[in-house]
Amino acid sequence: MSRLSEEFLVSAAQKSADLTHRSTIKRNMDSYDAAVAKGKTRFVDWEAARARAAQVKSEGIRNLAPLLESFEAKVVARGGHVYWAENSEDARQYICDVALKNKVKTVVKSKSMVTEEIHLSPALEKLGMTVWETDLGELIVQLRKEPPYHIVTPAMHLTREQIRDLFQKEIPGDMRGETHQELVAAARRFLRRAFFSAEMGISGANFLVADAGLVAISTNEGNGRLTTSLPRVHVVVTGIEKVIPRLDDLGVLWPVLATTGTGQPITTYSTLIGGPKRADEADGPEEFHVVLLDNGRTEVLADKAQQELLRCIRCGACLNMCPVYRQVGGHTYKSIYPGPIGSALMPIFQSQQEYGHLSYACSLCTACNSVCPVKIKLSDHLLENRRAYVAEGNAKLSEKIGFSVFRWAAMGATRFAFFGWAGRRVLRGALAMGISPHALGPLATWTKYRAVMDVPKQSFRALWRKQNGNR
Ligand code: SF4
Repeated sequence: MSRLSEEFLVSAAQKSADLTHRSTIKRNMDSYDAAVAKGKTRFVDWEAARARAAQVKSEGIRNLAPLLESFEAKVVARGGHVYWAENSEDARQYICDVALKNKVKTVVKSKSMVTEEIHLSPALEKLGMTVWETDLGELIVQLRKEPPYHIVTPAMHLTREQIRDLFQKEIPGDMRGETHQELVAAARRFLRRAFFSAEMGISGANFLVADAGLVAISTNEGNGRLTTSLPRVHVVVTGIEKVIPRLDDLGVLWPVLATTGTGQPITTYSTLIGGPKRADEADGPEEFHVVLLDNGRTEVLADKAQQELLRCIRCGACLNMCPVYRQVGGHTYKSIYPGPIGSALMPIFQSQQEYGHLSYACSLCTACNSVCPVKIKLSDHLLENRRAYVAEGNAKLSEKIGFSVFRWAAMGATRFAFFGWAGRRVLRGALAMGISPHALGPLATWTKYRAVMDVPKQSFRALWRKQNGNR
């Protein structure tokens, strides 16, 4: 068992027993569920919109190389720079070089999971720069020195009181009051200073529009627009799978993303950016860079069974719907992308050995499949990961022996009947001798929380023969 796998089990048990955590998550999830249900009714045909969104993203993935080249050509023609980064180190190095060349002291970031993936902030801080997250949720988890809890709502696990206490400690000069509005105002006062002092702004991208050469960014707080227009240098860091063919496609993708992300008809600030400011423009960066990150994505692309994972638009709906995520919480996964999509992607992006256990943190209820706006069959990918995990030799020896014996027994009718007969007798004998069910080897975890069923006197076959003869 890997270290991360052991930590997952310990943290899952702790979080599931933490009633304060569970009630905070439940309250937030209940209001999310209500908003999304209402949001879907705004569509004439929600299922048709989902199907179209999936189609557009599939088209983007199938034509990844030419679409990215088209995007690149248009950005470069407007005076922007496009860098193709093979992995995290490559991307970090490029961005650090741009920052050093521009003598950057302060960086503002708008929300971006890809920058978490490449561990960008620690690299910039190591060079002596100050980095501020400007999305409110991201700022809160930054001040708490912890990773985002959720890919859309990074601080959803915290109560207003916890945030008030945090702000009183970390930004006392800006705190006046404690209502939601007053806390937001405190963060805004604090962040305004960061925006005006920053030489570099870093953002992610929700979509890269190939035919127009534009980066589409959605934020609800306006921080994205300040991050991308106030500092002298703007760097977009994005996965290569974000490319879509046409500007028109945003007509379906923007409302679908907003609906499954937060239940809104459209995200408050939907912005398109294509390059540095022109000579006749007052606002915008003087330098504009787009870092196109591979970091394992072409491996996913090459794998026909897993390829559709690249359709993900990071809306977070599968996390919100997942009964496991709702109990164990986002930090338990200890992965950049938590929940079903993270459990599917992380073993491929990193390694089966480190993250393969996440594919087992799933009851295969398929709730995530039913909500995914781009129709990714996440449960199929988790099963595929389990196959790869076992094929790479990561399964426990006891499991391997157990399943080999079961396979051998199940391959012969007489053998199967014999093992059933013997198993019933052993189990009945053990229970009659007063042996606790908790001591029953592989059944121990199961029986810890559940009553042991009565051992049947007869096998299913015997009962069948009794009722139906030899039919
Ligand atoms: S897998 Fe689907 S539901 Fe989950 S984050 Fe991605 S797009 Fe949203």
